Amino acid sequence: MTAVPYRRFRTLLVANRGEIACRVIRSARALGLRTVAVYSEADQDAMHVAVADDAILLGPARARDSYLNIERVIAAAKATGAEAIHPGCGFLSESAEFADACRDAGLIFVGPTAAMIRAMGSKSGSKALMARAGVPLVPGYHDEAQDEATLRSAAETIGFPVLIKASAGGGGRGMRVVRTAGEFAEALQSAKREALAAFADDRVLIEKYVDNPRHIEVQVIGDSHGNLLSLFERECTLQRRHQKVIEEAPSPTLDPAQREAVCAAARKAAAAVNYVGAGTIEFVSDGHDVYFIEMNTRLQVEHPVTELITGIDLVEWQLRVAFGEVLPLAQDQVRLNGHAVEARVYAENPARGFMPSVGRIRTWRMPAEAGGLRVDAGYRAGDTVSPNYDAMLAKVIAWGPTREAALERLAHGLDDSDLRGIVTNIPFLSALVTHPAVRANTIDTGFIERELAALTPASPPVSPLELGAAVAAVLRDEARSAEADASSPWRTAGWMPVGRRQRLFVLRQDATEHRLTLRYGRGPSTLTFDGREIVFAWTAGPDAEIRLDLSGARTQVVAVVEGHEIYVRSRNGRFDLHLVDPFGVEDEDHAGEDRIVAPLPGTVVALLTEEGAAIEKGAAILTLEVMKMEQTLRAPFDGVVRALKCKVGDIVQEGAELADIEPTEA
Ligand code: ADP
Repeated sequence: MTAVPYRRFRTLLVANRGEIACRVIRSARALGLRTVAVYSEADQDAMHVAVADDAILLGPARARDSYLNIERVIAAAKATGAEAIHPGCGFLSESAEFADACRDAGLIFVGPTAAMIRAMGSKSGSKALMARAGVPLVPGYHDEAQDEATLRSAAETIGFPVLIKASAGGGGRGMRVVRTAGEFAEALQSAKREALAAFADDRVLIEKYVDNPRHIEVQVIGDSHGNLLSLFERECTLQRRHQKVIEEAPSPTLDPAQREAVCAAARKAAAAVNYVGAGTIEFVSDGHDVYFIEMNTRLQVEHPVTELITGIDLVEWQLRVAFGEVLPLAQDQVRLNGHAVEARVYAENPARGFMPSVGRIRTWRMPAEAGGLRVDAGYRAGDTVSPNYDAMLAKVIAWGPTREAALERLAHGLDDSDLRGIVTNIPFLSALVTHPAVRANTIDTGFIERELAALTPASPPVSPLELGAAVAAVLRDEARSAEADASSPWRTAGWMPVGRRQRLFVLRQDATEHRLTLRYGRGPSTLTFDGREIVFAWTAGPDAEIRLDLSGARTQVVAVVEGHEIYVRSRNGRFDLHLVDPFGVEDEDHAGEDRIVAPLPGTVVALLTEEGAAIEKGAAILTLEVMKMEQTLRAPFDGVVRALKCKVGDIVQEGAELADIEPTEA
């Protein structure tokens, strides 16, 4: 039953996926280790597979058959010659059974021993241990007897409000706040039901509910030589349904004396199990006192904020501890420098109850890792967010010399992030980090739920600025693709339309349509809409940036065109616009495209040619009615109509093939 001795190893298997797997692999490589990724059938093309030296398929998408399958993970390590396994966070990272299985297979588990995980894994067991070690606890009931009468009388002794918690809990499941004795029985039943379903264990404990609670936690790390350090605290009070959303370090709530007290309590807690590896001691605080709630015997999602204020690479330290090394610093050498804040970017829709969003990521735009910003990502453009796993895509982390500076940088970093193809919580995160109550730190764990409406605002109506930006973006992209196409007239030096020309743009935001007329050619261009005329000029900046000049008012915007969807980010916020193409196919270059497809869902109102007809480029093929507007689709080149694939009255979906044209050989 002896643990596998910690020793230097060369090959590390990372038993996780997404952002945390990529994060662990980065530090492992920096230490010169060969890295092995594991993946499920849903993750064949995932980023963590691409960044590892080797990768091995575990099994089907379902976590139980892949990332949570102990036997398969161990077999993968054996098959690839891995000597150690890093479990990341989530999945098997707090499984004592997995730590045992690693030991039995002669593998080093990068983390504490199974015995330490067991001692700390149960909320009740760990509380009994902490009580003996003299760590402050919330008044509560943590005993074995589970009958309703005992639990009710415990609640009455503690005094309402109380919190019922699943002993085996995690992720906020099986937790109920009970404010009066009358609600107790029902809350107990439902907490037990949820705990049984989630953890196959319906035991609960009862605690005094701390009002206006704040979440404060301390990072600790121990080596196998008896050294144990605390690496300051983090505050994770911004939560939704007991799940962290924004985390920061150090806590803006504690003064230096309170900081030292909570760190000392954490060291005492970890020392009670002679802890080895990285871990977190979690406390709930009423703003003055802190009370132990649980220990997480693993790396946490929010560990980067600690790394940014201490300059320590926690994964590197975890690996060094697993090598059997002594921790490189002593407690008094660990320094706190500045402030760091992290925001978790999820594929979810805050406007629809935070429903997860799945699909292919078309655009992946994240801020540059400079000027105090760090991005830990698990996805890239083209990747698919599958419904099988946690929807966290990335973390944006900002460091600054002060809390204000860090929050400001984070706000800018979030503003610079665009993920298209899936819905994300980025606008919600932006609203959070700029909220006056967050800036002033007058929050508690219930803040997000109370302020939800203000944090998920509908996008404001567009102004001329966004409309001008959208038109500029369409023109920019046309010019860019013309540049890439050697045969395009736009490329020809000196090409200029004769005289003044005009072009109509119809842009839709939700149900509102905006019609703009662009006049260009000789002299300055103008845009006319709603009876106003503005002088219109623009230049393309790097990437998606555009510098706009609207009658002399200059500003910078970001605008991305994807098919008929235009995304604009201006100083007024984020906007999704739809380009309604009033003249059907007006693009010049449809080279190689011999299919006529519906640009939008609509109704076929007229067929203007017939099968077998020889037609010239630009000839009308059919008319579609789209959103009460008729659009004529035209031949992209000279050719013969091979087939008409629709008839008058058909309702067609976007992308449906309507006609097939065979180009005439040039
Ligand atoms: P889980 O393991 O399910 O995440 P925790 O015990 O860590 O559950 O608690 C989750 C969150 O609930 C904490 O971050 C804290 O904000 C809140 N919480 C826990 N205990 C109390 C308490 N006694 N009073 C008020 N809030 C609490």
